[in-house]
Amino acid sequence: MMRRDRLVIATVAIAYFLCAASAIALTRLSGHIALMWMANAPLIAALLTRPARERPLHVVACFAASIAASLALSPMALLAPIFAIANVAESLIAWLLLRRMGADARVFLSLGTLGAFVASAGIVAPLVAGLLPAVAVWLHLGVDPWTVWMSWGIGHGLGTLICTPIALIAMTGPLYRERALQPGAPARFAAVGMLIVAVTGLCFAQTRLPLMFVPILPLIIATMAFRVAGAALGIFVIAVIGAGFTALGTGPAELISGTPAFRLQFFQFYLAVLFLTAVPFATMITRNQRLTSAIAASEARYRLIADHVSDVVLTLGPTGLVEFASPSLREVTGHAPETLIGHSPVDLVFELDREIVDAAYHAAIADPDKTQRFEFRGITASGGVRWFESTARAVRDDDGTAQSVVTVLREVSQHKAREADLMRQATTDPMTGVLNRRAFQDRIDLYRSTSADRPAALALFDLDHFKRVNDSHGHDAGDAALLHFADVLRANLRVEDVIGRLGGEEFAVLFPGLATSGAHAACERIRQSLQDARIHAGGATFTITVSAGVAPIRADLSSDEVFRIADAALYRAKSRGRNRSERAAA
Ligand code: GH3
Ligand code: MG
Ligand code: MG
Repeated sequence: MMRRDRLVIATVAIAYFLCAASAIALTRLSGHIALMWMANAPLIAALLTRPARERPLHVVACFAASIAASLALSPMALLAPIFAIANVAESLIAWLLLRRMGADARVFLSLGTLGAFVASAGIVAPLVAGLLPAVAVWLHLGVDPWTVWMSWGIGHGLGTLICTPIALIAMTGPLYRERALQPGAPARFAAVGMLIVAVTGLCFAQTRLPLMFVPILPLIIATMAFRVAGAALGIFVIAVIGAGFTALGTGPAELISGTPAFRLQFFQFYLAVLFLTAVPFATMITRNQRLTSAIAASEARYRLIADHVSDVVLTLGPTGLVEFASPSLREVTGHAPETLIGHSPVDLVFELDREIVDAAYHAAIADPDKTQRFEFRGITASGGVRWFESTARAVRDDDGTAQSVVTVLREVSQHKAREADLMRQATTDPMTGVLNRRAFQDRIDLYRSTSADRPAALALFDLDHFKRVNDSHGHDAGDAALLHFADVLRANLRVEDVIGRLGGEEFAVLFPGLATSGAHAACERIRQSLQDARIHAGGATFTITVSAGVAPIRADLSSDEVFRIADAALYRAKSRGRNRSERAAA
């Protein structure tokens, strides 16, 4: 065992002896069982705060201190061991009950454990332990056991209530004293203490006026300033000074008509009321203070994140108006955060996407446990449209209803553009920019599945004698001719017509809504336009021609059949001399 631990045990035992001795001395003056038995408080505080291996030593040391005090001062010295057993048992019962109810050294920091403390240490333990001395005194001196039991219960309960907070604060240090760490706090604490001493002294040193209510004022000041420590100190001072004067027959209690015993009981009642006023009040202030600082810390953390992330954080209130917008809003969208506060964010959302945003907001409110994810286009300060990816979640208030929605926005335009780029790469022919074979086939299938009852036509194009173009003017000139043909197609088609390059110098066109006759007319237009144009490439000037075959797209024909029919028509065009377009044989 360390020296410091032995010192703690000795200190607790000495405090026990001094409290017990002064209580017995005062009891002798008042001629009754102790008015206020404070001695058990240091033992209970030690049991609550000291390590398990130390507890038996505390019990033994305080048992010895109790016997010593009785032997030294009590007129009933013979009963010293009985009283000592009752005292130690009382402390142990209080401690065990407190532990049962989940209380520890922090007992005065929540109203629940404070209630447990009042019930166990202030009522149950003294009444149970008091049975033994009541019987003993009755048998030994013939005193009415009921009177002894009640006096013991009230005197011990009150003494423990009043003194345990002080003992606990003395033993736990910073747990109850974080305020004292501020500069100047010890001086203020001393000043408030002196104020209570002075006011209580003045009120109890006179017997003319019923001034018992006056010490409440400095007690409340102490409580507000130093919470549990202030309340504990204040009540202790009032108890000691008031008890001293009242036991000596001075003070406002003397104004009450009745026996001295009745006056002392009234004074006990007064102290109990002071305790039950100031200590719960202190506990509540402490709890609120802790809550406030916890909220402030989380608010600070949240601010720090919101201020520094590149994502935008928006908080929308219950009416859908912006309550908070993080500074990054300016970098991401160009809008100043402060101009958004109190306004609906809807103006910043691209019109077509407002429904999506609205739905996500209402979904978040309706189901606060779920995070909503959605994408929308937003409008920047310069009028540009950007893609945003967003998560939103409702914040519940005390009664569980969603009050506000916190939204985090991230700009994904680049990501979206890349996505679109990749999509384009996957579906277009890199040289001519028209659809590639795969994508063109998909468009045919899509058209057939969505517009089965609408007429449509497919045309296949194959450039004539293209090998010769390559052979006479070079491959690059051939490429230029292919680009030229793609331009001719685009120039002669409607927007809804779909162009694809099936491979090499073979192209295809889907004509939505056209019968083969209309498609054939379009092919003729294209053919004409191509044959009339001169191509300048590779230092040469030449012309090319194209042949085409047209087939109808109908529900009763499969894609393969449609392609086969168009291919057959193209073959016919080739075999009939090229530079012509043929329709499928009916
Ligand atoms: P036909 O009138 O019978 O269609 O004769 P053709 O010479 O066009 O014969 P075919 O369709 O069989 O030959 C296609 C030629 O097109 C083969 C190849 O040299 C050429 N070709 C295919 N793809 C490209 C290309 O991307 N660039 C160039 N410059 N030539 C290509
Ligand atoms: Mg070919
Ligand atoms: Mg060809």
